[in-house]
Amino acid sequence: MVRIGVLALQGDVGEHVRALEESGARAVSVRRPSELASVDAMVLPGGESTTMSKLLVAFDLLEPLRERLGAGMPVWGTCAGMILLATDVLDGREDQRSLGVLDMTVRRNAFGRQVDSWEEDLDVRGLDAPFHAVFIRAPRVERVGPGVEVLARAGNSADGAVVAVRGGRALATSFHPEVGGDHRLHRLFVSMADGS
Ligand code: GLN
Repeated sequence: MVRIGVLALQGDVGEHVRALEESGARAVSVRRPSELASVDAMVLPGGESTTMSKLLVAFDLLEPLRERLGAGMPVWGTCAGMILLATDVLDGREDQRSLGVLDMTVRRNAFGRQVDSWEEDLDVRGLDAPFHAVFIRAPRVERVGPGVEVLARAGNSADGAVVAVRGGRALATSFHPEVGGDHRLHRLFVSMADGS
């Protein structure tokens, strides 16, 4: 069974662990380099990207994670995790670090105060029916490089903000797929992670 790590420094770890276990994977909380070494793929959860960036450095995980991801380990970043995967971050903190796995520019807290949080039924490329997506102080993708495919846009409109992308074995979503009990995206990631 494929072993998928959930970065457990901060954020909504437990919901991802449960959803992965219910989607046919063995889920492991990852806080140290030895735990990272034991998994085949990683999920970077939602939370606060500036805090996670600091903790990645403090827990000596930033470089080992960069190395594994650079070597092609499958990864899925959700919300704050999406920000961590980007090559370029707008409205971040000066000292905020990112992993640079997906060639894209991401803006933090991109939807403004009035629409801090919202939910909508999102058409996601590759899914058979709309996905009920929960957005919480979400980032949006403002540029994607060649090789990064757009999977969903807010409002399901052609000029809506990009909120889900895939590039190679990396997946990133602006919303929180771990809430609500629909595990289709977790199953998609499990299949990416075990190479099927
Ligand atoms: N706004 C948060 C950040 O910048 C992300 C929010 C979330 O993960 N729900 O990291």
